Amino acid sequence: MLEIHQIPILSDNYVYLVIDRITGKSACIDPGVADPVNDLLEKLQINLDYILSTHHHNDHVGANLDLKKKHNCKIVGNFYDKERIPGIDIFLKDGDCFKLGESECKILEVSGHTIGHIAYYFMNEDFLFCGDTLFSLGCGRLFEGTPEDMVKSLSKIRALPDKTKIFCGHEYTLSNAMFVKKLEPKNKFLEIKIEEIKKKREENKPTIPSILGEEKKFNPFLKFDNNIFLEKIGIKNRSIVESLKILRQMKDEF
Ligand code: ZN
Ligand code: FE
Repeated sequence: MLEIHQIPILSDNYVYLVIDRITGKSACIDPGVADPVNDLLEKLQINLDYILSTHHHNDHVGANLDLKKKHNCKIVGNFYDKERIPGIDIFLKDGDCFKLGESECKILEVSGHTIGHIAYYFMNEDFLFCGDTLFSLGCGRLFEGTPEDMVKSLSKIRALPDKTKIFCGHEYTLSNAMFVKKLEPKNKFLEIKIEEIKKKREENKPTIPSILGEEKKFNPFLKFDNNIFLEKIGIKNRSIVESLKILRQMKDEF
């Protein structure tokens, strides 16, 4: 059993504190800043055992060294990022398992936004911490990886059970929704979905986690091989990789 605390930081990032209920072991995922994490740890009266880093961008690793100094925690990340994730101690690669007390998670390499980006999949609970790879109704920008990398990564995520909860790195859902609406102005179900998102944001509630099954219905970046959808938005006779590339370009220019 995992307990999850979601901490909004900076303008739209989420940091997660996860605690294995059986052993009390704790891990902080992608701490961009330290203060709100320390405040929560103090409130819960617990120490921090691990930091799990998804990728090297500063809004995700900015507090690694401060938290390590204060809590003497171990920092976990991809072997590929061993020079780029501050304070890294434990090197993992695709397919490895990491144990947080009794809670096991599998490492999925999901390159695209960066090369060597990883996601942490707690399979017993169907929780996925995917950093900046998949967002609700969007995906990460391709800063380092290729469209082909992103197709592989999104395919890995798409293969997880529909009930998987997607804990991503940013609250981008509403602005992503505006792009999806432009692609599918006549989709009634999307209209309902957007109203739900708007309501949550007006009440200052997070739209994250989202559910993978819902993402499969509405997220255009999971439809790179759905020909009916692609034709509808004007992408015809393209390979899967080209389709994803065009979709991502459309979003970049939106
Ligand atoms: Zn990033
Ligand atoms: Fe980010």
